Amino acid sequence: MMDKRQFLKTSGAFLTSTILSPFASAEPPLSSGAAAAPRTNWAGNLTYHTDTLLAPKSVAETQQMVKAAPKLRALGSRHSFNAIADSAAAQISVHDLDSKSLDAEARTVTVGAGLRYGDFAPWLDEQGYALHNLASLPHITAVGATATATHGSGVANGNLATAVSGLEIVTADGRIAQLSRAKDGELFQGAVVHLGALGVVTRITLDLQPTFQVRQVVYENLSMDRLEHNLDAIFSSGYSVSLFTDWQEHRVSQVWLKSKAAPGATFQIAPEFYGATAATRKLHPLPGHDATPCTEQMGIPGPWYERLPHFRMNFTPSSGAEIQTEYFVPRAKGYEAILAVEQLKDRITPHLFITELRAIAADDLWMSPAYHQDCMAIHFTWKPEPDEIQRVLPLIEAKLAPFNARPHWGKVFTMPPSRLAQVYPNIPKFQALLKQYDPQGKFRNQFIDANIFGA
Ligand SMILES: Cc1cc2nc3c(=O)[nH]c(=O)nc-3n(C[C@H](O)[C@H](O)[C@H](O)COP(=O)(O)OP(=O)(O)OC[C@H]3O[C@@H](n4cnc5c(N)ncnc54)[C@H](O)[C@@H]3O)c2cc1C
Repeated sequence: MMDKRQFLKTSGAFLTSTILSPFASAEPPLSSGAAAAPRTNWAGNLTYHTDTLLAPKSVAETQQMVKAAPKLRALGSRHSFNAIADSAAAQISVHDLDSKSLDAEARTVTVGAGLRYGDFAPWLDEQGYALHNLASLPHITAVGATATATHGSGVANGNLATAVSGLEIVTADGRIAQLSRAKDGELFQGAVVHLGALGVVTRITLDLQPTFQVRQVVYENLSMDRLEHNLDAIFSSGYSVSLFTDWQEHRVSQVWLKSKAAPGATFQIAPEFYGATAATRKLHPLPGHDATPCTEQMGIPGPWYERLPHFRMNFTPSSGAEIQTEYFVPRAKGYEAILAVEQLKDRITPHLFITELRAIAADDLWMSPAYHQDCMAIHFTWKPEPDEIQRVLPLIEAKLAPFNARPHWGKVFTMPPSRLAQVYPNIPKFQALLKQYDPQGKFRNQFIDANIFGA
């Protein structure tokens, strides 16, 4: 298997023609300034088109830098796989904005935009609080993740952006805008999944709930036939449920069931789940990968932040040398959509590490893939084979067209802007919001120009 260093050497042609920087595989801290800046995204499949990385130490300094820059793009923890965070002019990382404060009465937490979920989740837990959900990894910033509507799983769980109740944003003129769900109504619903195009977020406020414990149990070999009549029941069998498949043999290779655990309650793993059998050891979702980086399984209870993600904070999540893609379809049509993609299995599997199927509850955030629609997300963790992926994605998108599939904003897709405009009904309203907040287009990059304004 190709390791990350080899991948960085060979994947430079994907989405970019610039030469990879010598810093690509070293992963220096984001705040280390322009000279030592990481000039690729986390996976290394994209080299950013600027060598300028601004690293303000305070909100005031962020304001000065934003005001002075003619063109700018905020960068989070670099985990997006496409050019959404790229810039041909300059990027700004607010990595050093790391404040955190609780409001017990409002039951919210406000954190600096530099913080990753894994940086503040254990502290929240110590104070007796939890977030409603997390993505597969805790390594991403809350601001960067919610900007693209990043999600976990759970039929009753909205994506991570649905927990956002306030945003502090430095807008194009260097002034601070305080937006909140309570005060700004519909405008706020437009601003939460902002794709980095509204301004530079310096603080984010998230809803909390009392802390809780979770048990994770993995089952192996679920026939896809069982999904035909039980898809909703299966996704509803736990607080958060993920199904993994390589598309071969009409089966789900692993079911990850994450359930809330009542403290002190006795628990025994049921040996069978819809014909699938309980795993007898900890597993990695990618075949052949060591399970050490994965969160605890085998029904052992633990805090929400150590069970809801699949991967542990101090380890490389997933594969590392990989590319990701994801499409959201109405959950009511989930099984039909699975069958449609399955027709391409022999085109998909040779280039795939694994597919994951998850459930996301409907929301009212304009640019969310789950806007007004309970969703099932069909995710692909690809091997680092950019050319083959570029060839297979249009085939998958054609198969999913009858379901009006919406692509994940932070992953690789080939859907043209005219199609995006059909499946994301709020793009015209979002364009107007961006023009209101950023009339000169300071925060627009090639990705935003093409995908939001290019239809
Ligand atoms: C291994 C791996 C696993 C993943 N698992 C999941 C998953 O389970 N579910 C899922 O939905 N996605 C998943 N993703 C995708 C990832 O969650 C998204 O791409 C997310 O947006 C990355 O956040 P980031 O902090 O790295 O931000 P970046 O990728 O750096 O930026 C993302 C966007 O946020 C904007 N942004 C960042 N910071 C700011 C700021 N301060 N102000 C304004 N805008 C800002 C950027 O401009 C850009 O538009 C995964 C990615 C990887 C690499």
